[in-house]
Amino acid sequence: MRLLIQNGYVIDPAQGTNTGKNLLIEDGRVVGLSSHSDDVPEGAEVFDATGLIVAPGFIDMHVHLREPGHEYKETIASGAAAAVAGGFTTICAMPNTNPINDNAAVTRFVIEQAERAGLASVFPIGAITKNSEGTELAEMGEMKDAGIIAVSDDGRPVPTAGMMRRAMEYARGFDLPVIDHCEDKSLARGGVMHEGHWSLVLGLRGMPAAAEEVDAERNCLLAGLTGARVHLAHVSTRGAIETVRRAKEKGLAVTCEVAPHHWTLTDEAAQHYDQNTKVSPPLRSQDHIDAIVEGLRDGTIDIIATDHAPHHADEKALEYDQAPFGIVGLETAVGLALERLVNEGVISLERLVELCSTNPARIFNLEERGTFRAGSRADLTILDPELAWTFDVSRSKSKSRNTPFDGYAFRGGTVATLVAGRIAYLHPDYGHAVQSRRPGALVS
Ligand SMILES: [Zn+2]
Ligand SMILES: [Zn+2]
Repeated sequence: MRLLIQNGYVIDPAQGTNTGKNLLIEDGRVVGLSSHSDDVPEGAEVFDATGLIVAPGFIDMHVHLREPGHEYKETIASGAAAAVAGGFTTICAMPNTNPINDNAAVTRFVIEQAERAGLASVFPIGAITKNSEGTELAEMGEMKDAGIIAVSDDGRPVPTAGMMRRAMEYARGFDLPVIDHCEDKSLARGGVMHEGHWSLVLGLRGMPAAAEEVDAERNCLLAGLTGARVHLAHVSTRGAIETVRRAKEKGLAVTCEVAPHHWTLTDEAAQHYDQNTKVSPPLRSQDHIDAIVEGLRDGTIDIIATDHAPHHADEKALEYDQAPFGIVGLETAVGLALERLVNEGVISLERLVELCSTNPARIFNLEERGTFRAGSRADLTILDPELAWTFDVSRSKSKSRNTPFDGYAFRGGTVATLVAGRIAYLHPDYGHAVQSRRPGALVS
């Protein structure tokens, strides 16, 4: 099957492309880019992308899919549906399921379930330690053979520097990046929000920025010691970003990601004890947001990732200090990036594509993704920078509803998501863009 994405504006930082181009797809692969023209190759169907941005499919490096074990919160299929509706063609699943993905059997299960769902591609991330208990290394080699692309004990960070050193040395042997949720539990002390003005006012136990920064510093020192590839998940503090900046200056293989809620909301959002403001790491003060914005602008931050963390309404309805950490994020990330970063002039659209596609593909060796080079997978995220829309969580594809962004209005959003050349999501107002000679052939 041939499909021509016609008259769009193509942004592919991996090839230095940032201009009006047609994009031809055949049998799920990119054939190539060509100048705008009304000519349609023999037998091709057409997607009219006039006025739209055509980017290599967005990749969300950090998602919690809850299957196996907590399917009432999210399944791999429902998470993948939320992903394509949000503009993501590939997502990476954290291992803290039940059982934990610390062995090849769970890794294979995740991959098989994702294939069955047939929506976004799902790459599993394996645990660093068995059962993520921080005491014994997991079988990284077997999991890599089964399909993991990195290791992490996200949510239960590796507690000691000695264990993390061994983990990095071991992971390096398999060329697997180590992703760490930076949090020194002895400093976080069971805190439920950022330690500062608002934790005092609200009478809630705070966790200081230093709890993240001590661990970020530790991990960067160990990256230097071991030569491992180290990726810091959801950095949220000025100090952690400063640490990454210095590590990069030294030439260490350190990268990091930031989540949309961390540049959008401050800890003041917790003032009405809304449990959907309870995330880990916590929402920080404005000074930390300023540092995140600077890191996004100057290249210190490599990736935008959602940390999509579905929880059932009954659990989130517990009192603030008892409710679980985390919010869903797959369907609001692109809106928050366009609205708060691109429209505000913080970053360009090209940099957005780098953060959401080029860089995650490169850092995690996701071959054939993150670019429109000839022969790549035809994974596409098509955006309308002028689309006016409002997020209505009651229509979310996710099984969970825990978000502080219900009712948010956005300018700019996803209009279509193509996975391996097939339209996996099409915004209801853009049905006219698809000009198929066989009605319904594209949207199945
Ligand atoms: Zn985490
Ligand atoms: Zn997480």
